[in-house]
Amino acid sequence: MFILLVFVLPKRNKHARAQEMNIPKIINTYCPKCKTHTEHSVSILKMGKRRALAVGARRHEREKRGYGGQGWPLQKKFAKTTKKQTLKLKCKQCSYTIQKQGIRLRKLTIGGKT
Ligand SMILES: [Zn+2]
Repeated sequence: MFILLVFVLPKRNKHARAQEMNIPKIINTYCPKCKTHTEHSVSILKMGKRRALAVGARRHEREKRGYGGQGWPLQKKFAKTTKKQTLKLKCKQCSYTIQKQGIRLRKLTIGGKT
């Protein structure tokens, strides 16, 4: 007779790192236009509106005509559960905007309570 022993181990994330991040509304950082450290207001970069008259959009519209539908494969399955969050830093003195390349985060809050 076999006795099945099941050990329930606590789940441990192999790639454990910061999943949530809280960033202050104002950051003091280098401005390449002022060439000194100035105060910057922080916001999250969002995707712009797709241009309807772009070459690819016009071509896709043309290819979708008639028989046969979608011209190229659309991504249906996503391996990643997070998105890279890019920060937009705007200088308060000259209003020059720099984009800070983001890291993968599940949740990003700006100026939230800690
Ligand atoms: Zn500046």
